[in-house]
Amino acid sequence: MSGAPRYRTVVLDVDSTLTGIEGVDWLAARRETETASGVMRLTERVMAGEMPIEKAYAARLERIAPTRLEVAALAEAYRDAVAPDARAAIASLQAAGVRVLAISGGLRDAVLPFCTGLGIADADVHAVKLRWNADGEYTGFDRRSPLVKQTGKARMLQRLALPRPILAVGDGSTDVEMRRAGEADAFAAYTGFTHRARVVEAADFVVRSFAELTERVLR
Ligand SMILES: [Mg+2]
Repeated sequence: MSGAPRYRTVVLDVDSTLTGIEGVDWLAARRETETASGVMRLTERVMAGEMPIEKAYAARLERIAPTRLEVAALAEAYRDAVAPDARAAIASLQAAGVRVLAISGGLRDAVLPFCTGLGIADADVHAVKLRWNADGEYTGFDRRSPLVKQTGKARMLQRLALPRPILAVGDGSTDVEMRRAGEADAFAAYTGFTHRARVVEAADFVVRSFAELTERVLR
């Protein structure tokens, strides 16, 4: 590999990209079957682009009401399901001077320890804060976060004013929005865990692995 990286910033999705699980579905699976299957149907519709995320976000969390301990356990589950070569890819990109961020509609208390464990800086991890009472029982989420909205990742990129060109990488419809809004210069559909036709169709290119992603960015 030689020459300057093709992108100066790489923005990674977390659920079903950096890790093989969907955090909200993982939490829902700890509830009774009816709750779990209802939540998973909503997630799939959102990620397939059939329903905007703002319609599903509050409904899913209120049905699950995840405790602080359950979200801490989710961070462990994320680690157990980490994408092959993700850590090495992040290190290679950073060594080449590429800024690597994680922007997620997932839950910050699980996403942050997982992503910093992969070598991403604290300040470059963005996700949604939950609130709990003193007993660790769920009391709500940050409704003002742009990341609970369909176009939220694009708004976050606009706010951050990162070095360009920017490559966005993910598996879902909210990832596509960064490219559609012109806030990312290219979008790579990551198909290592899931393959969604509408997302792949909207992508500039597809990567099946983090090794392939590294090659694409560093040429
Ligand atoms: Mg995802």
